[in-house]
Amino acid sequence: MGKKGLIVCVCQGTCPSFQKMNVFNVLNAIRRKKLVDFVSLHPQLCAKDGDEYLRTLLSNTDIDRLYVAACESHMQEKMFERAFNDAGFDPSKHSSVDIRNMNTEEAVTAITKLIEENP
Ligand code: SF4
Repeated sequence: MGKKGLIVCVCQGTCPSFQKMNVFNVLNAIRRKKLVDFVSLHPQLCAKDGDEYLRTLLSNTDIDRLYVAACESHMQEKMFERAFNDAGFDPSKHSSVDIRNMNTEEAVTAITKLIEENP
């Protein structure tokens, strides 16, 4: 069975939108729930090296679903389109949630809901 992974992206960790949450506690909560096979944190997924990260990760055809908790969903789709194409990753396997301005608990709830609703 294919793997499921979560990437959290936080605008370099300096954007005020991500100051209310502790990203490590968010990631650990999702790990404890065992909802995905792997979790990771990227500081700027829409930058050039973020594209490279996505390309490298998703060239692994074993990955069946990618959850990205970051900024607005539609923006994510547009920003990651090229990297998905380059990696041959079907964009319908990407599920996104906007966690800006949430605290730790709210982010965990939103990510949990995303994963459960998009198995
Ligand atoms: S992908 Fe979204 S959350 Fe991540 S750095 Fe870019 S704008 Fe910020």
